[in-house]
Amino acid sequence: MNDIYMDNNATTQVDPEIVTAILPYFTEQFGNPSSLHSFGNKVGFALKKARKSVQELLGAEHDSEIVFTSCGSESDSTAIMSALKAQPERKEIITTVVEHPAVLTLCDYLATEGYTVHKLTVDGKGRLDLDEYAKRLSDKVAVVSVMWANNETGTIFPVEKMAEMADEAGVLFHTDAVQAVGKIPMNLQDTSIHMLSLSGHKLHAPKGVGVLYLKRGTRFRPLLRGGHQERGRRAGTENTTGIIGLGVACDLAQKYMEYENTLVSKMRDRLQEGILAQVPHSFVTGDVNNRLPNTLNIAFEYIEGEAILLLMNKVGIAASSGSACTSGSLEPSHVMKAMGIPYTAAHGTVRFSLSRYNTMEEVERVIAEVPTIVAQLRKLSPYWGANGPIENPEQAFAPVYA
Ligand code: PLP
Repeated sequence: MNDIYMDNNATTQVDPEIVTAILPYFTEQFGNPSSLHSFGNKVGFALKKARKSVQELLGAEHDSEIVFTSCGSESDSTAIMSALKAQPERKEIITTVVEHPAVLTLCDYLATEGYTVHKLTVDGKGRLDLDEYAKRLSDKVAVVSVMWANNETGTIFPVEKMAEMADEAGVLFHTDAVQAVGKIPMNLQDTSIHMLSLSGHKLHAPKGVGVLYLKRGTRFRPLLRGGHQERGRRAGTENTTGIIGLGVACDLAQKYMEYENTLVSKMRDRLQEGILAQVPHSFVTGDVNNRLPNTLNIAFEYIEGEAILLLMNKVGIAASSGSACTSGSLEPSHVMKAMGIPYTAAHGTVRFSLSRYNTMEEVERVIAEVPTIVAQLRKLSPYWGANGPIENPEQAFAPVYA
């Protein structure tokens, strides 16, 4: 039996069609696109085509608005740093408490450098309060950076509305759309979004390529200075295979988006219903009525997400947990904390993120395995007694976060 991959918000399989398309650019078509000979010209032409494909997927007005970078994190950093450098008199940033570390870590660093960072809070379903946002907008703010969709819960933010509000206040608006591109139809030319980040490896392109969309006329300062690549907006010889692969990925995303939004969400919904029906004391986190079609984040109360993942891995199922285990601690994720998910549930969150490569048979296999795993772990849990959760489990152990 094949292993089941349901961790597509972490990274995706490169589409075989993309692999075929980029292979010649490792061998016979290896030129540097800046070179003035046929080797360079052929690759330059392929990059132009890729830029057009990205433009079309994003609904951008012009292909010159597409700047290729190395990843989503670089695009996020470039956007935020550019806004600060271009407007040195503005010392405030607005973002949210649930951004990816690509934005939050940079903002925390900038706070140590004297900038004021306003982090908008979310409610129990991970939703923002636009009144709180409106109060923060002023001519002291250099940039607003708000993700289009959350990587852990899939919750979608009203970025088009927020960009309009920023524009009316004369503030630059950036969105980290790393999880949204290819899943949500976009027509950026009709929005007030000034800058947008995307990452190739989240939409079946290779790793090591990203895009910063820069609306025409947006004040800009490059992060990487050097050669004249990307019209002087991002120095460094282009990752030609990555960019060409991303172009094909954008074409495929256009083609599959409707499929993803119907069949993938059907699989996701069946997974949700199948698990919740069999596992007591479990619930979906985030905004179930407004989330990415592929994402399901379930909190299994009274057990650890990592333990669930390990046992799922043993039976060939790959997903991810919300805990920041990479930091060496088992703290619940900042997203779960921000939503106020109780301690005994925030530790037990598991994110299933599907793609067009998943099948209903796989979904049924996961539904068959997960309840047994959860029951097995609950037997070992200090919060769990002979007949279910112990009395006052919240008070049984001191919470590690306030
Ligand atoms: N932003 C979001 C919302 C993400 O989910 C990720 C990756 O998980 C990133 C940014 C960073 O992207 P990259 O890995 O391409 O740097």
